[in-house]
Amino acid sequence: MEADDLDFDIDAAPDHDEGARSAPHLHVVPDTEIDLVKAERAVADLLDALGVDRTADGLASTPRRVARAYAELLTPRPFRATTFDNDEGYDELVVARAIPFTSLCEHHLLPFTGVAHVGYLPDARLLGLSKLARVVDHFSRRLQVQERLTAQVANFIATTLQPKGVGVVLEAEHLCMSLRGVRSSGTRTVTSALKGLVRDDPRTRAEFLSLAGAQP
Ligand code: ZN
Repeated sequence: MEADDLDFDIDAAPDHDEGARSAPHLHVVPDTEIDLVKAERAVADLLDALGVDRTADGLASTPRRVARAYAELLTPRPFRATTFDNDEGYDELVVARAIPFTSLCEHHLLPFTGVAHVGYLPDARLLGLSKLARVVDHFSRRLQVQERLTAQVANFIATTLQPKGVGVVLEAEHLCMSLRGVRSSGTRTVTSALKGLVRDDPRTRAEFLSLAGAQP
């Protein structure tokens, strides 16, 4: 899943945002088919391999539940990245703080959860406010590592909106870290991707990082 552009099916989309004064939009479709029956069988096999007695009370529906839970975590929700003319020439940062997200670590198939702080410095276009959260949600719903998720969110906004700068900070707790080996419960991993003036202009960079609640 290297080429992110492949995920975006431009102009092939049903309308999800009727009424929005939309301009160029990208609509995103899932690029994988999930075989729930096969997944359910595989979970049953896994439980058998782990020595779990699947006839025990409460376990009858576990393979089905697990298959569905993973399917949900791996199915991106389609959305339309609606943009608007920046009529008034708004030229300060737009920042959405503490967007909650859950993703799935590609090394252990365990969730990592946390918050994303996403901002941009507008140029000619503005992005619908709710879309910042939708972008995070979209890229979270696949097998991930936190660094790549951070970069994908930043790259998507940079490409779609062509703003003067983009900043993304993710803070997350990884269950694979909390539960195994180093039992570092509560440890949060912080990653960031800064682009354009958010990276290069010291004042904008400091302002973004301060709004994001991260250290400059
Ligand atoms: Zn992991």
